[in-house]
Amino acid sequence: MTEAATQTLPFEAEVSQVLHLVTHALYSHKDVFLRELISNASDACDKLRFEAIAQPGLMAEGGELGIEIRWDKDARTLTITDNGIGMSRDEVIENIGTIARSGTRKFLESLSGDARADSRLIGQFGVGFYSAFVVADRVTLETRRAGATAADGVRWSSDGSSAYTLETIQHAARGTTLTLHLKPDEDEFLDPWRLRELVKKYSEHIGFPIRMLKLVEGKPGDALETVNHAAALWTQPRSELKDEDYQSFYKTLTHDFNAPLAWTHNRVEGKQSYTLLLYLPEKPPFDALFSGRDERKGLKLYIRRVFIMDASEQLLPAYLRFVRGVVDSDDLPLNVSREILQENRLVSQIRAACCKRTLDLLDRLARDEAPRYAEFYKSFGNVLKEGIVEDSDNRERIAGLLRFASTHHSDATQSVSLDDYIGRMQAGQESIYYLTAESWAAARHSAQIEALAARGIEVLLMSERIDEWAMQYLSEY
Ligand code: ADP
Ligand code: MG
Repeated sequence: MTEAATQTLPFEAEVSQVLHLVTHALYSHKDVFLRELISNASDACDKLRFEAIAQPGLMAEGGELGIEIRWDKDARTLTITDNGIGMSRDEVIENIGTIARSGTRKFLESLSGDARADSRLIGQFGVGFYSAFVVADRVTLETRRAGATAADGVRWSSDGSSAYTLETIQHAARGTTLTLHLKPDEDEFLDPWRLRELVKKYSEHIGFPIRMLKLVEGKPGDALETVNHAAALWTQPRSELKDEDYQSFYKTLTHDFNAPLAWTHNRVEGKQSYTLLLYLPEKPPFDALFSGRDERKGLKLYIRRVFIMDASEQLLPAYLRFVRGVVDSDDLPLNVSREILQENRLVSQIRAACCKRTLDLLDRLARDEAPRYAEFYKSFGNVLKEGIVEDSDNRERIAGLLRFASTHHSDATQSVSLDDYIGRMQAGQESIYYLTAESWAAARHSAQIEALAARGIEVLLMSERIDEWAMQYLSEY
């Protein structure tokens, strides 16, 4: 091997900026780092299981997939180990030294104001790894990719300033070990009870076992025990799950720290069998996935418990792109590709079911929990309106879910449904009146309104850019 023993490389400029922010600006909710690192370890296990579909040999060595957390009070280190996919030298440089991700800019922008120095945001931007530096002043990562030889191990190490070192090492085990050298004030993360509490809080529903040394009379013994639930939540019957379980799984799934607004969990058995667990978030995520219709993420496709890919685009129409969750199919072939997903008959049935279940969920929320629906509508109403144009089959249902400002109320809140409107129509009134304008105020004070008001006719006031376009497609209700 001619490789220099240790090589020092600079971080890419944007990584340095992220690191600077992480080490200097993130003070609240520091404990989130553990969730982020466990989430990466779990992703690595998912990736290995997926690659092993085509190459079963990859799983041959290294035992059952899982994650281990160890602490060392003398060395003041915390170690997180997984036996997942691991990384090659190039992958370490690519994944840890560089950020070719659109989220990074947005992360930097959203954290540049002082109001947002909240660690909990970090995972939503795809930069969770660097949260290690919130609590550690040195981080060492040792890894070997599944399928590579022990001589192809890599050690990456950095103090989180401007550079990192890389070394080729012997690494017998497949997977990754991350060692955090804790900052002087962070001793709480050397306390096994505190660590357990954090695993419970943030990582209970990670689908792989998280193991820690069992305590014997308060001291670590030799045996490991699993400290999380370690089962795919959606495979459990609804009757056995509490609201807290659903909420905490949602947070694990999305890195969102707000609770979801509502969810629907269904097992379908028949010609094909599958499970759906769909969530409505309360607010758009900070990574602003909603700015683009093309950049969709958030619905994960599993096939018989194996994570395959994010398939939001294949399983949901664009106007429902706020939905987060899991679809687990019993019948799709494990080797599906995106292309196959596009045209598969089973997939189109699942897609129709996702759409129907989401609309059912919205109906239920609108009917039974109007204030929560109003919350949802504030965040996602304009996205939902796209459905009027996009989904002619469900146009009537979607129209029923829309809310508008109206002359019936004195403020600009979008709270009036078409059904409300119809219920108040004058005897003999045949049409629904609406006015689109630049702003609510402009609509409200339009001369046309006065004339109609004199006849006692209510007018819906629309001022969103999408309204005019959507209304062209809604000629009847
Ligand atoms: P994200 O998880 O959103 O991709 P992170 O900053 O958390 O972003 O991680 C960056 C990347 O580093 C991951 O996408 C992955 O490729 C790699 N990585 C981090 N931790 C591990 C690990 N334990 N095993 C393998 N790869 C990892
Ligand atoms: Mg991550």
